[in-house]
Amino acid sequence: MELFDRELGMTNALLEFISVCTPNAGKMDVWRWKKTKSGELSTKSVYEVLMQNRNLTAPVLHSNAMMAKVWSAPTPHKVRVTAWRCLKNRLATYGNLVKRRVQLADVEVWCNACVGNVETANHLFLLCPKAQQVWNAIESWMGIRTARPKELMQHFNMFINSGRGRESEKALKALWMCTIWLLWKQRNESRFEEQVWEVQRAVSEIKGTSGTFCFYG
Ligand SMILES: [Zn+2]
Repeated sequence: MELFDRELGMTNALLEFISVCTPNAGKMDVWRWKKTKSGELSTKSVYEVLMQNRNLTAPVLHSNAMMAKVWSAPTPHKVRVTAWRCLKNRLATYGNLVKRRVQLADVEVWCNACVGNVETANHLFLLCPKAQQVWNAIESWMGIRTARPKELMQHFNMFINSGRGRESEKALKALWMCTIWLLWKQRNESRFEEQVWEVQRAVSEIKGTSGTFCFYG
């Protein structure tokens, strides 16, 4: 099978990852949550992990200059609000609901676009394999390429600065925010309306919707 360049790195990482595993013949593969001894996910252990990490990105998240860029973007208000809440980590992701001690079934905290990851904002909008595919498509559509940091504010900063000039920053800002808004919409539709999470549908919607934003601002 022919692999693309970007898939070679992922394939090598996977091979390295599984090289330390010893397969058990006759036993079914199962997902294990590394943070508990039993390997079973619990909202209590997710809460502990999320609370341990809560201050790691705080200085970046409070960058007023970056947040001001969100409010001045040429997008509808609802898109600005979603992007602002996303960057402030104030969307009701299941990871955030766990942090707020909302009672959830253990199974609900997983991302529903992939397998084996807790649904945090950084995961949902950036690190999830489905989100990565969407960003790949959007970036190649625009002819840009960003390194993929693990944190949303850093990605926002890299993305809007990957073009040339003020006008490109304005357009890329609107596109980044549109992508966040539609990833959140897709997440909600797959969570609550049982729609299949489709990369191609998300990409088409982003391309179509972001094109209408030139009427704003
Ligand atoms: Zn995921």
